Amino acid sequence: MAIETLFIANRGEIAVRIIRAAQSLGIKTVQAYSEADAEMLAVRLADEAVCVGPAPAAKSYLNIPSVVAAAKDAGADAVHPGYGFLAENADFARAVEDAGMIFVGPKAETIERMGDKVAARIAAKEAGVPTVPGSDGRITADEALSVAEEIGYPVMIKAAAGGGGRGIRIAQDAAELARLAPQARAEAEAAFGDGGLYLEKVIVNPRHIEVQILGDGTGAAVHCYERECSLQRRRQKVWEEAPAFGLPDATREAMCNAAVALAEAVNYRGAGTIEYLYDAAADEFYFIEMNTRIQVEHPVTEMITGLDLVAMMLRIAGGETLPVTQDQITCTGHAIEVRLNAEDPLMQFMPFPGNVASLSIPEGEGLRFDHFLYEGYQIPPFYDSLLGKMIVHAPTREAAIDLMAETLKDLEIGGLKTTTPLHLALAADPGVRAGDFHTQWLEPWLDAGNLTATDAA
Ligand code: ADP
Ligand code: ADP
Ligand code: MG
Repeated sequence: MAIETLFIANRGEIAVRIIRAAQSLGIKTVQAYSEADAEMLAVRLADEAVCVGPAPAAKSYLNIPSVVAAAKDAGADAVHPGYGFLAENADFARAVEDAGMIFVGPKAETIERMGDKVAARIAAKEAGVPTVPGSDGRITADEALSVAEEIGYPVMIKAAAGGGGRGIRIAQDAAELARLAPQARAEAEAAFGDGGLYLEKVIVNPRHIEVQILGDGTGAAVHCYERECSLQRRRQKVWEEAPAFGLPDATREAMCNAAVALAEAVNYRGAGTIEYLYDAAADEFYFIEMNTRIQVEHPVTEMITGLDLVAMMLRIAGGETLPVTQDQITCTGHAIEVRLNAEDPLMQFMPFPGNVASLSIPEGEGLRFDHFLYEGYQIPPFYDSLLGKMIVHAPTREAAIDLMAETLKDLEIGGLKTTTPLHLALAADPGVRAGDFHTQWLEPWLDAGNLTATDAA
């Protein structure tokens, strides 16, 4: 039964993105919003909109009973969770299904298994996918010390329920591990309601490369090639590319095939991402986690494959088998996405909510701007600072970087500080142009003062 009415349980640019995909399929849309979001673009674009609670996310976008009741009352037959918020919450997926609606994502059991980073490591190992050396399961402080002794320092203490770059700490030696483990547990408990910890060896200067997959829920899956997401600050991605440059063909194939094997092993349904760390010097890759949802950086994959991943999610959720076969999925050219946040990159990325005084968006071949802005829009201070994503597609990586630089120079978002100067400086940097970077590259680059007031002017 194809979806007729879709409830969008999210906000910002991803809500707009989901509405566009739904409209392309002739699906009616009902947009959730908090009291602070009554004026957001998705509310204007959707067929209907329903308030799900006050500004604080805990009382609105994260309030499961409120969101499920709103969807049900609106007569929705499906709910798309977007990313963040309740997207990887198994209780939410179950509540949606118990209320007789379709959850646009994997089954609740799959979220439980793959959203828990420890359980996901075990599933990866069982499917024959290499994982980062580390603990076999959740560990106590004592077990952490003995595992660390075995795998060698430095080690990473990670929260089983962590996400968004949070809940990760590095210990250089036993004393630091003994000191940080209880702290990490308390923080994970407070942030994720789950104090479970596990340990991984720190891979030195790896690249973050991830594979997009689509599954039909009955054991068939395909991959849509990989993305390169190594430019990170505080373990959050800031600039993403597809495909990953300079990856040996055999390695690329192994990474993609392993992702498909894992997705098939867990009967994955919908769109998902298998994240790896890649040690370029050793040409080795290691599974780190699976994201059981659409990702912020999905557009770069759409640009190189020509697929509409969100529409595919909706079609699979509506009961279709995989809309594409592996040999229909091709990779053309090179795509780059940069995350434009309402932050001042020259002031330690301080959030800069405010009023969009003016807006001028460049248009042209190979350009796409996924956003939720309009002139006069007042950005509320309560949520993530992502304003939008500029995405470019060109025949080669060099041409894509050039196009990104030109496009960002022409983009005007008046009245706000944004991370555009950071991306312009990155696009001009010889290291970025040479592809000579890894996940630990950007922070020292920023600390060294590579981004200056001249760039921002
Ligand atoms: P992606 O690879 O898609 O960027 P992230 O793990 O960075 O995945 O999360 C996507 C977005 O979801 C982030 O930009 C952030 O806004 C949000 N997010 C993820 N985890 C959390 C969390 N635990 N709490 C609040 N927001 C989160
Ligand atoms: P999250 O759920 O917050 O996205 P991940 O496990 O995906 O957490 O890790 C986020 C980032 O942290 C990775 O992209 C990488 O930069 C870094 N990281 C994670 N695990 C390791 C590791 N074992 N060694 C080195 N860096 C790591
Ligand atoms: Mg991750």
